[in-house]
Amino acid sequence: MRSYSSFSEIQSDLKAGNLSVKALVQAYLDRIEQSKHLNIFLEVFAPEVLQKAEMLDAKLKSGTAGKLAGMVIGLKDNICYKDHKVSASSKILEGFTSIYNATVVERLLKEDALIIGRCNCDEFAMGSSNENSAYGNVLNPLDTTRVPGGSSGGATAAVAAELCLATLGTDTGGSIRQPASFCGLVGVKPTYGRVSRYGAIAYASSFDQIGPITKKIEDAALIMEVIAGKDEFDSTLSDKEVPPYSRELKQDVSKIKVAYLEDCLEKEGLDPEIKKRTKGVIEQLKKAGHTVEPVRFPFLDYLVPVYYVLTTAEASSNLARYQGLNFGYRSKNATDMESTFRKTRSEGFGKEVQRRIMLGTFVLSSGYYDAYYAKGQKVRRFLQNKTLEILSNYDFILLPTTPGTAFKFGENSADPIKMYLEDIFTVQANITGLPAISLPMGKHSNGLPFGLQLIGRKLEESKLFAFSEYLLNNF
Ligand code: GLN
Repeated sequence: MRSYSSFSEIQSDLKAGNLSVKALVQAYLDRIEQSKHLNIFLEVFAPEVLQKAEMLDAKLKSGTAGKLAGMVIGLKDNICYKDHKVSASSKILEGFTSIYNATVVERLLKEDALIIGRCNCDEFAMGSSNENSAYGNVLNPLDTTRVPGGSSGGATAAVAAELCLATLGTDTGGSIRQPASFCGLVGVKPTYGRVSRYGAIAYASSFDQIGPITKKIEDAALIMEVIAGKDEFDSTLSDKEVPPYSRELKQDVSKIKVAYLEDCLEKEGLDPEIKKRTKGVIEQLKKAGHTVEPVRFPFLDYLVPVYYVLTTAEASSNLARYQGLNFGYRSKNATDMESTFRKTRSEGFGKEVQRRIMLGTFVLSSGYYDAYYAKGQKVRRFLQNKTLEILSNYDFILLPTTPGTAFKFGENSADPIKMYLEDIFTVQANITGLPAISLPMGKHSNGLPFGLQLIGRKLEESKLFAFSEYLLNNF
């Protein structure tokens, strides 16, 4: 089978009769089989998806198929799909089967998307390299000695290795955008409250969002159009109508004003080639007549600490439910209730998850609550206000997605602080709840890709996609 990088290519081949959904699915399944060494899929729903493909071919013939018919999608292993296993790549959810569909899954299925399997990730979405999975490392398909990024490492590698057309990941602090940067793809973190979190296994509920990972903007826009919008199961969702993003990509972007954060470009640790490319795009945009101006944001050093204070607090509360009684794994060595809790959690959770639960319990504990958690909330509000101030004058903030390109296995894992600093440019969008996208706009002399990032105004995804399309096509 030829390789496909966009849904429209698939659709035109289906229409022309050069391709059937069944043949497409079979080709993806074959490729998954050949790519097993990358450890991307934890499970492939092979017989089921082939059967559905056949039904879809019939539906397409009779003209009754939904708008995603022929789109083959993978799910990060923290998104629930009814009657299918889901584990958040944790031992503690071993053997657990979803009893309902996440809203995003429900909406994809309704439009006849095919879900081919579940993708490896960092345990409970905590990590930046996929090295925290209970099911082993995912290899970066572009260079197997390197990490694919995380925590949606499998979901991103799946698209890069063309094992499916698109995937859904989750992004709490960069987990869609950072691996997209490392694998040369488009990754979208929607506005907080744009996409339902119902059925996404919670990590830090006031930060988490589900979003697409694709090769092309048009496909990310189309998927967003299907999955976004009001949901009675998630009260944090906006009532605002979802625009037809995929049909608004050609809107006029000539008057767009862009800010860039000088402090980001001056940040030590930023790879010089990424810095140069970011500056190059800024200059090109100016030449093309756009207003692109530097702004100060001397608060970068607060972003990662405040992210880790607040997300660990939320995680310690969210993960309290895994105690060996209701879900998945239960320790065989437990003798009473307390030892069931203690042993199940010690044996079932990996090191990083345990570290974060303990940190979170600490920042919430009486005596420290005011000093850490309450203070963290205030700092979060301050950072939100400062970011919104910038966006009251500009449509977008342009910045790198990651300080470097994909790193080698083991390079950062001995030092959690070093690993946490991977998130320096991505957490701002989650702290503020704003939409952000990583665009594959860089190629390093080491041969690896890297991304540039745009942060937009609240719920202005339509403009974000249109400007992204313009950037990708012209710069
Ligand atoms: N790398 C970040 C972390 O480890 C982001 C995770 C995420 O977005 N889920 O928390």
